[in-house]
Formats: sequence, C-alpha cells, structure tokens
Amino acid sequence: MTKSTSATIRVLACVSVYLLSAPFFVIHADSANSFVIRNARVFDGSRLLGQSDVWVSNGNIKAVGKNLKVPADVKVVDAYGDTLLPGLIDAHTHAWGDALKRAEIFGVTTELDMFTDVSYMQQTKKDQAEGRHLDQADLRSAGTLATAPGGHGTEYGITIPTLSTPAEAQDWVDARVAEGSDYIKIVLDDGSAYGLHRPTLNKETLTAVIEAAHKDGKMAVVHIGTLADAHVAIGAGADAVVHLFSDKKPDPDFAKFVAAHHAFVVPTLDVLESVSGIASGDSLTTDTHLAPYLTAEDISNLKKSFPNQTGLSEKYAEQTVVQLKAVHVPILAGTDAPNPGTAHGSSIHRELELLVRAGLTPQEALASATSVPAKSFHLDDRGAIEPGKRADLLLVKGDPTQDILATRDIISVWKLGVEDDRATYRAAIQKAREQAATAAQAPAPSGSDVSLISDFEDGSPSAKFGTGWMLSTDSIAGGKSTGDMKIVDGGARGGKHALDISGVIDGGLPYAWAGVMFSPGSQPFGVLNLSAKKNISFFAKGDGQTYRVLVFTTSGGRIPAQQTFVAGSEWKKTSIPFSAFNGSDGHDVMAILFVGGPAAGKFDFQIDDVKVE
Ligand SMILES: [Zn+2]
Repeated sequence: MTKSTSATIRVLACVSVYLLSAPFFVIHADSANSFVIRNARVFDGSRLLGQSDVWVSNGNIKAVGKNLKVPADVKVVDAYGDTLLPGLIDAHTHAWGDALKRAEIFGVTTELDMFTDVSYMQQTKKDQAEGRHLDQADLRSAGTLATAPGGHGTEYGITIPTLSTPAEAQDWVDARVAEGSDYIKIVLDDGSAYGLHRPTLNKETLTAVIEAAHKDGKMAVVHIGTLADAHVAIGAGADAVVHLFSDKKPDPDFAKFVAAHHAFVVPTLDVLESVSGIASGDSLTTDTHLAPYLTAEDISNLKKSFPNQTGLSEKYAEQTVVQLKAVHVPILAGTDAPNPGTAHGSSIHRELELLVRAGLTPQEALASATSVPAKSFHLDDRGAIEPGKRADLLLVKGDPTQDILATRDIISVWKLGVEDDRATYRAAIQKAREQAATAAQAPAPSGSDVSLISDFEDGSPSAKFGTGWMLSTDSIAGGKSTGDMKIVDGGARGGKHALDISGVIDGGLPYAWAGVMFSPGSQPFGVLNLSAKKNISFFAKGDGQTYRVLVFTTSGGRIPAQQTFVAGSEWKKTSIPFSAFNGSDGHDVMAILFVGGPAAGKFDFQIDDVKVE
C-alpha cells in the first residue's frame, strides 16, 4: 500500500516537472512599445482601410491614417505590401502550462478559455493585471464549467464542483463569479453523438444556470454535442453555443431560431473535423510558415484525431455556418485547442481556412477572429485597429483579405505594443529538434542492449534495466480505480514466476485505468532511446478481458498511445511494433504500462517475459 502510494506521487511529480520544462520567456513592457507602422494594408477588424499608417504610443493605438505626422524619434516599421490586422482572438480554448505563450507566437493575442484549472486562471489574470507576460496571449476564462456529476468535464483529473438541480444553480454561479470567471460555461452533452452515455444537466437545471449567470451580469455559453442540444441551449436563453454539431444537417430554420434569440456561435470546425476522424491540424505541420514554430508536442497533437464515429461529419457544421451567415448570426473563430487535431495558436489559422471553405469571405473570417469576438464578449479595448484600442497587432506578408492562408506568413506580433520575440522562440524549437535528432541517433545507453525487461524469475517485480514495475492508477487524475500486483507461481513457457495484476476499475473516468508501469530510464518517466528495437513483446493470460498497453513518449506529450490485447486462459505471446503507438520510433520512450480499464469492474491478468526486441 505504502509502496503504491509513493510510486504514484513520484509519477505525478515527474509529469509536473516535464510540463514545466517547455520553452518559456519573460518580457516586460518598456519604452519600446511606441512606434509607427507605415504604409500597411490595414484590415481594421471589420473592413479594409487600404494603405495606412498606424501610430502606437505606450502600448495603445494613438492614430490611424495616411501620412501620419509623428515626432522624428518615433521608430518606423516599413510595412509596404504587408497587411496589418488586430491581434487574433481565439474564442474557444483550454489554457494551461505554456499555452498562452504558444498562442501569441502565432498571432493569437487573446484566448477565451472555456474551462481550465481555477488556480491557473487566477494566477494568470493576476500576472496580467500587473502588466506581466506581454509575450503571452491575454486570458479571459470561464474557470470551472457547469456539468452534471460524472458529466463531460469531470474526466480531466481536475476535481470540479458539479450540480444536478435548478435549486443549486445560483450558488454554483455565485461561486464562479467569486473565483473570477469572466463568463459561465455550461455542458449539455450526453455523449450520444460519440457512442458514449454520460450524465448531463437536465433542461431545468441548464435554464436555471443561464438565468443565474444573467442575474450576476455574466454571459452563459454552452458546449453542445448535437443539433437537438443546440436547440435546447438556445431555447433556454444561452448567449452562445461554443461548438456546432456534426451529428445532423441543420434543420431549415435552425439559423433563424438562433438569430431570433440573439445568440452567437463559435463553430470550432477544426475540432469537429477531428471528431469525425480527420486530423484537422495535420496540414499545419508541413506549412513552411508555421512548422518552424511548432513544438514536438504541437506536431504530435495536430496529427491526432478522435476515433472515427460513423455518422458524424464536419460538413454538417459547414452547412450550418452558411445558414448562420445568411441571417447575420455572429460567427466566432474558435479552435478548442489543445484537443486532438489542434494546438494553441497555430490552429486558429486552420479554423480561418475552414470558415472560408464553409462559405465566409476572407474578410468575414478575419472579422470572426477580431471584431466579432471582441464585440460578442464585450472586450471593448481590442479587436479593432482604431485610436484608443490596445496595440495588440499582427503583421503578415501578402493579403489575407484575398487569400486567407496569408495569415500564416507572420512578420510580427505585438501585445500592448511590445513585439513578440519570435526569433528566439524559433531558435529554441530548432535546438530542441536537433537534440531530439541527436538522441534518436545516439547508441542506446548501457543496459538497454538487453532486450529482456522482466521474466520475474527472481521472484520480484524487478527489471533488467530502467525502473522496476510499480502500480499506476487513475487516482492521480481524480479516479477511484484500485490495483494490486504480486508475483505468482507458474510463468510463461514453463517459467517459475509471473507478475499478476488485479484490481477494480471505477467507472468514473472515461479513460479509467489501474495496472503496472515500467520506465526504461533510471527514474519514473526517465527516457531511454529504444530505437534500436522494433517491438514490445510479452506473454499474457487472464480472465478473458481486453487489456491495454500504454506508451508515453516525450514527443507524444501528456496523452499516451495505446494498443489492446486479450488475456485468455492460456499464456499467449503478443508483439506490438513501436510504430503502432502513434508512429513512435521508440527513441524517446518514457513509460510502458499494462493496465485494465476503462470498462468498470474487477480485473485480473498476468504478464511474463516482457521484452523489447
Ligand atoms: Zn472545449
């Protein structure tokens, strides 16, 4: 018991250290945030002004016009042939870690977060209020979301206050306002669109939360999963739905219904594309303007999609966008980063591309990421290039009002008039890539030339290299699953011993797990280059249930890749290529886990002769 607890704590600590090791810079405001941009093609957030000058003074826009007279000592940025836009606003993200830094690199100067850790929100907003982090996108946040016990939003390892009756609504909303939420985010999604069954708020509770938010002077925006949910949310008085649906074509009057309720919409086409099984962000990873600024984790995430669910299509959402445009419902660009297929910052450029593909003009798409979200969320100080607004600006080569892909060819990003140091960021990414390439070619360190990890013949859960086996359960993510491991008699191929893994999976988390973990490096989540090996192989037997092998790699980020196997009554060898784990070449393996779950219930299986070969 003690052993499993300490192992769990160590694992959690290592994950945290890893998350903090990403590139990070601090910039403070100084007198450099006064300058004049000359002869840019200016899109002011709503319309094209034509060739103009924009004078920035002390972080704000002082004047916009042709041939502006400025004092001789004001620095000049020559932008002839380039296009100046307001800094982009991503109207649907989930921010934590270095998300806001990565967002600003790609021209996103404001993120509207739709659910994050409350302490992160509070610390970030405090820092912003003190004028820090000008190299990071400004944050507005819902803080915690409103969801039913066990509903969507409870699966991410953050313990959140849930509610299930209208009577709880006002207290719940008041508590969010006290925490500092800028608006109230509500989940209406029973998972049915994705083949899941999970609790969600009933209509009465949803309505009560919306009314409570309005009573407190806050907007109420709703995550929906289906067309039917969208109708319910808008009908209940929501200010917006922050996804469109991909389960059905819109009915002919859907947009009129939204317009009649004066609601706005954040379609999140990119994540709906990923939900329908297409890695929406894949094309960004080979874009020559974006790729040099993408971290390994960004690239891994952009190449992912959700498992394909039959019947879902992002095209339904595109059809809905056309309908909404026809009746002038405000449409806001939002990415839902960092969900599979998306990444902070870079994905806004994909979302703009998809909005144009759906039928917005390039100028309408640019407005959807600037003036429209500013107006919809009452951010009166931004989203436009006008005197008095913040100098949150994006300068790009070419003309995105004609070709939306030109937003990717970024020259400069400014927040409050301070230019983002993109060159240093790019150099850090390049260095990290070179180090990864070197590591991939380096000979495997001593010990790893032994292909056998464990045969358990010494009667202990030890390993020939790396760490021994330790318990790992979803308790680190707020779950209640339990696990146990012990050496038992009778191994595979006539061996003396095997490792028995048993426990009870609690159904509280969709990705619930309990089992054992091995790290090839010298400590938990320590990396070892196993690229000389092609496969993970092992013998297993058990109670006939399906089990999972999870592999963590540094390039894969926080979410492990997984493969399944069935543990039947006889010992059976399974061999899985590293490439089956999200295309890994094995050079940066941090951990290998054998686990039960996510289906709830008791489990019991044994492993033996675990090898990399
Ligand atoms: Zn979201």
